[in-house]
Amino acid sequence: MANPQDFMKQLIEAAIQARRQAYAPYSNFSVGAAILGADERIHVGCNVENASYGMTICAERNAVGAMLTAGCTSIAAIAVALEGDGSPCGACRQVLAEFGEGFSIYLVTPSDGSIVRQWTINQLLPNAFRLRNASEKL
Ligand SMILES: [Zn+2]
Repeated sequence: MANPQDFMKQLIEAAIQARRQAYAPYSNFSVGAAILGADERIHVGCNVENASYGMTICAERNAVGAMLTAGCTSIAAIAVALEGDGSPCGACRQVLAEFGEGFSIYLVTPSDGSIVRQWTINQLLPNAFRLRNASEKL
């Protein structure tokens, strides 16, 4: 992966591929996420629903789990593939903010990989509660 465009192409394709693994029999709303870690590797996740609806886990948080499992703790960028429009939920915004401050989040269309929306994590969750905030309480 030589240049940023190569990273983006691979990141988007990884999100689309991850979406194909989504387990979403209740909502039929499949989502795939791919994180480009600071380690320059791609870590993927899909949404996983459950008969006990509250146990459902979003694609973004599963991708964070994969990133951490691979030994990376910093997000360089994330692509989220879903049909139509949307944005990461509040829980995912908080979890993503734990692992970086300036990275971009790209919403992409599964059929053609086009970028529908782009935000930074700071735009989606301004003034996020972070580790340093928690540490101040120690
Ligand atoms: Zn979420």
